[in-house]
This record gives sequence, structure tokens and C-alpha cells, in this order.
Amino acid sequence: MAKKKILVLGGGFAGVKLVRNLYKNKDFDITIITDQETFRYGATIWRASTGHLKEASYIPITSLVPVASNVHLVFDTAEKIDRAARSVKTTSGAKFTYDYCVIGLGVVTSYFGIKGLEEYSHNIKSSQGFDKFRQHLHEELNKKSALDQNYVVVGAGPTGVEMAAALRSYLKTIAKHHKIKRTRVNMQLVEAAPRVLPMLAPKASKATRKRLAKLGVHVLTGKVVKGETANTITIDKWSIPTHTVVWTAGVTCNPFFTNNPRQFELNEKKRVVVDDHLKVDNRTFVIGDSAATKFSGLALTALHNASYVADYITRKHYGKKARSYVPLEPVTIIPVGDNWSVFQWRKLVFSGRFAGLLRTIYDFIGYAEVMGVRPAFSIWLKRNMRRESCEFCTDLNN
Ligand SMILES: Cc1cc2nc3c(=O)[nH]c(=O)nc-3n(C[C@H](O)[C@H](O)[C@H](O)COP(=O)(O)OP(=O)(O)OC[C@H]3O[C@@H](n4cnc5c(N)ncnc54)[C@H](O)[C@@H]3O)c2cc1C
Repeated sequence: MAKKKILVLGGGFAGVKLVRNLYKNKDFDITIITDQETFRYGATIWRASTGHLKEASYIPITSLVPVASNVHLVFDTAEKIDRAARSVKTTSGAKFTYDYCVIGLGVVTSYFGIKGLEEYSHNIKSSQGFDKFRQHLHEELNKKSALDQNYVVVGAGPTGVEMAAALRSYLKTIAKHHKIKRTRVNMQLVEAAPRVLPMLAPKASKATRKRLAKLGVHVLTGKVVKGETANTITIDKWSIPTHTVVWTAGVTCNPFFTNNPRQFELNEKKRVVVDDHLKVDNRTFVIGDSAATKFSGLALTALHNASYVADYITRKHYGKKARSYVPLEPVTIIPVGDNWSVFQWRKLVFSGRFAGLLRTIYDFIGYAEVMGVRPAFSIWLKRNMRRESCEFCTDLNN
């Protein structure tokens, strides 16, 4: 039987999982194209941003993609696709043909055209943005006369809640190391919707808001950010002086899809419309955050999509009947400060230290899915290690 060429676009949860599920079958020759050297484990970025190991959130992709004669890892940016000709062109000018193409390019940050945000706010969702943010926190504390008292996190979805909760106590800790005796850290969390975590049940939002208040986070709901300058953020009619705004509020589709407008149909949320086999045609799949599937936007969904497509391709290869995709209702566990989380699965909602414990197990499972159990255990054991490069804070390291 002739080898099948599988082209995978994107080295995130969806792409990596797909390669790991298929590579042992030597009938498949797999090429994975990705534009970043690191794999982003989003769920732990709040910890890494607040003094823990960066390597637990930005992991070299070479350690996740299996080394095998039928797997080829290419660092490049996918630019154009011709589905009729079954080919993809990259920015370097290379052209790849395929029998099956699986696209898992994720989503990108959107600033909704709000003035100044792209220029002045911090985006922790890229490795470079993450480094800049961590450095900025320490540099601000060095400018003691201009101590930044207002720290603003925009968007009270999971990322914003996790960040705001962790950031306040982290700033208080590092301020002491910068020999600042009396610190006022006003941590503001701004949300346009009427409640925090608007995608969860009201009970989960209520428990989270109470916990945020206990941690000293001031929550502003039903408030819209209108603009940002180098020294202020405007929320509704009010301007708040600040040098530190973390933007977590918006995402949109990867430009790959808008740059290939005739090849993909986007829904109103700018996700790619796929059929009940996650396909856009008989040879091309879109999975993970990019796809308009139920529960899209979660790592667990991206992993589930990838496992389904790997099974579909294998079945087709052996002439077997393919099953239809069945969405997997994910468990949601959102950390709000150390050792405390809010948990929701269907109608079951609870919060506290036990949910916090479940969250650490959830993190372990996420690692294991993309790297295997043993390396996952090793990285998971290091989750409480601290790593500071700031000269005042190195004694926090362990
Ligand atoms: C801060 C944060 C916290 C999160 N917390 C959670 C959580 O607690 N639980 C949960 O389930 N989910 C969480 N998520 C969401 C989760 O990370 C995503 O659902 C998941 O990463 C989606 O996987 P993906 O493979 O579709 O996309 P991604 O993981 O984003 O991967 C896309 C890949 O494609 C690459 N790429 C993009 N464009 C190109 C191109 N043109 N050419 C080549 N490569 C390209 C990117 O560099 C990236 O490597 C969080 C996300 C973030 C950012």
C-alpha cells in the first residue's frame, strides 16, 4: 500500500496530538509545519507569569514531536492553501503536497480596534510577550518614584481571572524584594459582561467573585475599555493611571483563514465551518480552536478533535467506515489563586481546595496528552519551582 502524505499545520494541542496518534503507523509520512519553536501550554501561563518556570508553559516543540523516520518537523509559516491541488505554500516559498491536511492553527488575539491597546497592553499569550511582561513587572518596581499602583487585567474569562488572582500576591512578594516597604497594589479586573466567568453557571461566577474579593482583586463588571495610552486606560468615561494593562479579552481567527477566503467558510464567531467529520473537503480537516465545533476554545476539545481525526484517517486508509464526530463535554476547572479553583461539569459546580487539587491533576493530564506520562510527570513535579532572573528576586528561586 502506498504511503499516505499527512500534512499537519500548527504545533499546538491539536497538531501535536494528531502527530503522536499517527506516527507509529509507518504507512503515514507526516510533515508538521509550525511557526514557533515552543509549544504553548496556556493553562499554566498564569503561574509562569507570576514567578514560576517558563519552561512549564513554553515547551520546546522538539521535545513533543516524536523523532521517527516518517515524521518531519518544519519551522515555517503556512500561508496559502490550494485545496483542489492539495498543496500548501509557506512564507519561505516552500510547497507541500498532501493526501490529507489537518489544520490546527488556533486563534489570534483581537483588540477589536480599540485605540492604543495593541501598542500599550501586555499580551502574555506569546513567548515574546510573556518575557516582556515579566521583565516589565520588575522594571516598574525599580522605578520606585513612579511605582505603578494600578494594575489592570481586561477580560474576566478564565485567563483574566487566573492572572488577576495570581498577580496581586506576586507583586506584593516581589515588591518586598525590591525593598519597597509599603505597597499599594490596586488590582483591577475589568469585564464587559455582567459577571465574571460569563460562560459558566452563575453559581460559579458568584464563588469566583467572592474569592477574587478575598484576594484583593477589585472587579468591574459591565464596563467597557475604550482606549489606552502609555500612562492611562479609559474604562467607560473614566481614565485610570496605569503602566500595566494585561489584555485577555478577545480572540479572532488565524489570518491563514482570512488570507485564503475562497477556501474556508467562517461562522459569525470567525471559526471555520466543518462537517460532522471535522472536514472542509474529503482531504482537508480543521480542528482545535480554529474549528466551529461545540466546546471549541479548550485544550481538551483540541485533543479530542485530534484523536477523532487520527482515527478517521486510519479507518479510511484501511477502507473501514468512519464514525461521525461526537463532541466531548469538557470539565472546566479554573484556578483562582494558589490551591483554590472553581469546578464545573454540566450542572455540578463546586469550588475550593479540593477543586484546586483536581486542577493540578488536570494539568498533569494535559501534559501527558502531548508528551507522554513520564516527561509529563517530570514537568508536573516542577510546577511549584520558582525562577526569577531579576537581581533583587533571585533568592525566591528554588
Ligand atoms: C492563557 C491561556 C490559558 C488557557 N487555559 C486553558 C485551560 O485552563 N483549559 C483549557 O482547556 N484550555 C485553555 N486554554 C485554551 C487552549 O490553550 C486552547 O484551546 C488550545 O491551545 C487549542 O489548541 P490548538 O492546537 O487549536 O491551537 P494552539 O494550541 O494555539 O496551536 C496553534 C499552533 O499553530 C501555530 N501557528 C499559527 N499560525 C501558523 C501558521 N500560519 N503556520 C504555522 N504555524 C502556525 C501556533 O504557533 C501554534 O503553535 C488556554 C489558552 C490560553 C492562551
